[in-house]
Amino acid sequence: MSVARLSPSRATRQRELLSRLLREAEGPLSVTELHRRALGELPSLGLATVYRTLKLLQEQQEVHTVLLDGENLYEATGRGHHHHFSCRQCHKVFTLHTCPLPLPAGTVMEGGYVVEAHEVTLYGLCPQCAAAESA
Ligand SMILES: [Zn+2]
Ligand SMILES: [Zn+2]
Repeated sequence: MSVARLSPSRATRQRELLSRLLREAEGPLSVTELHRRALGELPSLGLATVYRTLKLLQEQQEVHTVLLDGENLYEATGRGHHHHFSCRQCHKVFTLHTCPLPLPAGTVMEGGYVVEAHEVTLYGLCPQCAAAESA
């Protein structure tokens, strides 16, 4: 067995890196931002490869897309019930595990609307930007 066969393939390394960066991210990332972060570890990684790998990760249900302000962001799956907080200053999107809506599935709203799920995106300043603004 050659040494080359023992090391993971290039495609595997790319897939593992992108998957890890998304799992470790503070929230869903745009393709551009994911690419930027990945270049720190794989400087030769092309944008087309990022798109191709994301498609694969979506097929494997490791990653899903989040549509926010008209842009598709990518997020690792399995984060449980959560919401997104979009910072108007630094434009980062954060995952929040606190739920601002006390509306469990099965809640019946006025008029007879039975709630099964909800989506909420919060907008404002992230802790860093809020601190900078009040300094
Ligand atoms: Zn911010
Ligand atoms: Zn919620």
